[in-house]
Amino acid sequence: MITTAELQFDRDHLWHPYTSITEPLPVYAVAQADGCHLQLGDGRKLLDGMSSWWCAIHGYNHPQLNQAVTTQLAKMSHVMFGGLTHQPAIELGQLLTQLSPEGLDYCFLCDSGSISVEVAMKMAIQYQLGNNRPDKGKFLTVRNGYHGDTFGAMSVCDPDNGMHHHFATTLAQQHFVAAPQSRFGAPYNPTDTAELEQTLTEHGDEIAAVIIEPVVQGAGGMRIYHPEYLKHLRHLCDQHQVLLIFDEIATGFGRTGKLFAAEHAGVSPDIMCVGKALTGGYMTLAATLSNHKVATGVADKEHGPGVFMHGPTFMANPLACAVACASLKLLTGSDWQERVKNIEAALTTGLAPAAELEGVADVRCLGAIGVIEMDQPVNMAPMVERFVQRGVWMRPFGKLVYCMPPFIISNAELEQLTSAMVATVAEECGA
Ligand SMILES: *Cc1c(COP(=O)(O)O)cnc(C)c1O
Repeated sequence: MITTAELQFDRDHLWHPYTSITEPLPVYAVAQADGCHLQLGDGRKLLDGMSSWWCAIHGYNHPQLNQAVTTQLAKMSHVMFGGLTHQPAIELGQLLTQLSPEGLDYCFLCDSGSISVEVAMKMAIQYQLGNNRPDKGKFLTVRNGYHGDTFGAMSVCDPDNGMHHHFATTLAQQHFVAAPQSRFGAPYNPTDTAELEQTLTEHGDEIAAVIIEPVVQGAGGMRIYHPEYLKHLRHLCDQHQVLLIFDEIATGFGRTGKLFAAEHAGVSPDIMCVGKALTGGYMTLAATLSNHKVATGVADKEHGPGVFMHGPTFMANPLACAVACASLKLLTGSDWQERVKNIEAALTTGLAPAAELEGVADVRCLGAIGVIEMDQPVNMAPMVERFVQRGVWMRPFGKLVYCMPPFIISNAELEQLTSAMVATVAEECGA
């Protein structure tokens, strides 16, 4: 049980994501987590609608994942990856290159999603260098994107709702075009790529790569767009000798109903970032996958350094790799397609009444993702508290009240989650 003094220390000394030390927001102490539930220090049990930000796809405290950690712990928790290797890294590399879209045969294992994006951006620049195109050092991306909080990643986040203006003195200037407008499941409008095409024509000679979240834009707006866009994007990138980077950190590992969102479009990127659910939410780990073209371009010694210039201390941490292997085997050995389809149906039906509410702008679902978009930004802390009173853990932000539950959630729990969302949103709307 966490004491009042400990909670006071937290308030006075610990930063939580996007918080202020002088005006901290309330936090809830978690004592334990099992399956789809978080148990608070005071004994209250909350149904988890967030999977700890997309990660805990198998739920918490899973016996097979626990076993993978303890078995590896007894052998070694970490060794450096410079000049050494180990079975968990090799097995994870095999699994990722087998499961990922065609051609992505090379794997860089790193610490977090943001770092995997930095790695992808550095690979793209080194690829262009290796091909004697040193002027291709910028990136093109769509608005409403989110790619992480480090400097390279921040530079390709949405320029308005991201952090650009706060860090403008240091941030690299990139090219932005409108986000894809055609919705998933609606007819595709071919003019969606018009601005993209124009920017590539005008500035293609200074662009190393396009980076984009395929099909679902996550933290930058929870937008779900038409996969056809990605086919045209692939074609345009090839025309302009620009690499294509897919950020599948949120969408990867079944969340959208396909193992990777790229599969909705049948498109392979040149570089792909994965993270979040990679370890089933157990530990921090991410990977940057690339194809042969990129790997050999990076290796060029005539125009570039000849080696890939990145190597974090905790690269390919064995504990994290072991639990990632266990999570991937658990996923691919399960009926996850059926489960995600079932979640999609329950979210679609359960959230539909919210669309009728005055103050709700849109309701949309894909795979195990359900989104209610409001007309106005919500008042987060009181809304979170109302969810807690309904026995549900949710973390709305901006205008978005959204869920992405663990894949093991039951139908009764889905009903609890969606009715809590509709009821809480109705209160927010003053209904
Ligand atoms: C969360 C996220 C990141 C950043 O990952 P971290 O592990 O938080 O650094 C990057 N891209 C997308 C699409 C994400 O959802």
